Amino acid sequence: ILLIGDGMSIPQINAFMLTTDSITAFERFPVTGLVKTHSKSNKITDSAAGGTAIATGHKTNNGMIGMNADSIAVPSILETLSDKGMKTGVVATSYLTHATPASFIAKNINRNNYEEIALDIATNDKIDIVIGGGRNHFVNRKDSLNLINEMTNNGWHYYDSISHADFNNEKIILLAAENHLDAYPQRGEFLPHATYLALKSLSNNNKKGFFLMVEGSQIDFACHNSDSTYLINEMRDFNNVINIVLDFAKENPNTLVIVTADHETGGLSLPGEEMTPAFTTGQHSGVMVPFYAYGTGANQLTGVHENTDFKALLLSLMR
Ligand code: MG
Ligand code: ZN
Repeated sequence: ILLIGDGMSIPQINAFMLTTDSITAFERFPVTGLVKTHSKSNKITDSAAGGTAIATGHKTNNGMIGMNADSIAVPSILETLSDKGMKTGVVATSYLTHATPASFIAKNINRNNYEEIALDIATNDKIDIVIGGGRNHFVNRKDSLNLINEMTNNGWHYYDSISHADFNNEKIILLAAENHLDAYPQRGEFLPHATYLALKSLSNNNKKGFFLMVEGSQIDFACHNSDSTYLINEMRDFNNVINIVLDFAKENPNTLVIVTADHETGGLSLPGEEMTPAFTTGQHSGVMVPFYAYGTGANQLTGVHENTDFKALLLSLMR
């Protein structure tokens, strides 16, 4: 289970820790390390190259999804594990077609080609559960295709809200918003709820295992907006998600949980006696991000890694 806090480095985590007296989910991990995030084209990555590096093990150019720097499509860890017989899922609070989720289930030279990315997702037979926003890219298209109809014709179960979704089915696409989901807490407990249901569904009657990527998508949005209230709210939601995943891993011993990020956003610092969050840029920064690992094989991950190391490390742990 891979959890990605988009735009989340140590200051974002630390800012959240200052708001609570409780033990945070981040303090439950026995193994930590650091990740270098630069892309092929830039010292400061975007979420497309960052997500692609984590997902595929290839440094690529900013803006590119699921392709190496020569614009050649490369398989994601999700796709490789699907080929090994595992079930797979992706959960996000942004468009499903947005850079981070797309890096696991689509290939495109430009992250902004949302309708092409939606077509990739709709026709990717290596994914079992997809949950997020971005319904417009599936049904409100220049080519007039209704990808949801095409998917349901191909055996998918489509839902437009989590309260309507039946997770006893296989092949689930839940598009809970036309665009990005609302910020937390306006969207309610969508992300923890969706994560819990996806874990139950993917692990049910499944001897071959599963891969699930869950993104705290809007940590990045909050930091682009230099909005510390939005940031803390999104961190609280993501913390709840991590706790749910760790509880699942405790009950299911052959599970590995990794929490990391694609890059830092906002150049966040915590200066002064009150450590009040201070953003130094409206863009991403180039500082390293942490990772946290729990479960089977976690202690073999410790150290300083390139973001491209995860795929090979995970596959080596599977032998
Ligand atoms: Mg993202
Ligand atoms: Zn960003």
